[in-house]
Amino acid sequence: MKKVRLAHLYPKLLNIYGDRGNILALKKRCEWRGIEIEIDEINISDSIKEHDIYFIGGGQDLQQIEVSKELQKHKEFLAGERDRGAVFLGICGGYQLMGHYYQPHNGERLEGISLLDAYTVAGGKRFIGNVTVETETSTLVGFENHSGLTYLMGETKPIGRVVVGNGNNGKDKTEGARYKNVFGTYLHGSFLPKNTHFADYMLELALGEKLDPINDEIEELTHNSLINKAY
Ligand code: GLN
Repeated sequence: MKKVRLAHLYPKLLNIYGDRGNILALKKRCEWRGIEIEIDEINISDSIKEHDIYFIGGGQDLQQIEVSKELQKHKEFLAGERDRGAVFLGICGGYQLMGHYYQPHNGERLEGISLLDAYTVAGGKRFIGNVTVETETSTLVGFENHSGLTYLMGETKPIGRVVVGNGNNGKDKTEGARYKNVFGTYLHGSFLPKNTHFADYMLELALGEKLDPINDEIEELTHNSLINKAY
């Protein structure tokens, strides 16, 4: 039987706006296909072993400080996981920590783990609202709630172009980031249940094979109802 090993990083700290729904989506989409999925919650002081997919959710600046410090212990290991092709998904605060650093409004800079060639600085206003993103092959929908402004560099490219909302920084019309199989996005929602094509793409990358489609009628109705929805 095919098997996916999924690590949920710091769920007790980075878990706002229903981001745990991303884990549920991956779990159910494996189970509905008869694919075994093993989910490990990794908390502060836990060691991290090899997994196929790593997920890290969003959080407030305070929780990000604690996770930023803990992640430094695993920076080299996780870079090795990225380089061997493991799949990562970071949402908002988790996304920010996958870059080089996040500079909040107050206090010291939070070191990231540089899986993405990106950095984030707190902006003067909070971006809150629905977001629609166009990628090369599809649309992505969700909602954003962040003051961080993220800028991409080098080989790290956006996952799409913002059609509604602000995205990475409200200036360059980019949303999210990708380098190798590392993905970051500001889209809460939660993200994967509303964008099941992206969930399946992550699973296909992790398994190294195409997956048979499943009946996504309800998920597609939900996704389509949010396209270009501003409020
Ligand atoms: N604290 C970060 C910011 O405000 C991330 C917030 C979040 O994860 N929604 O930009």
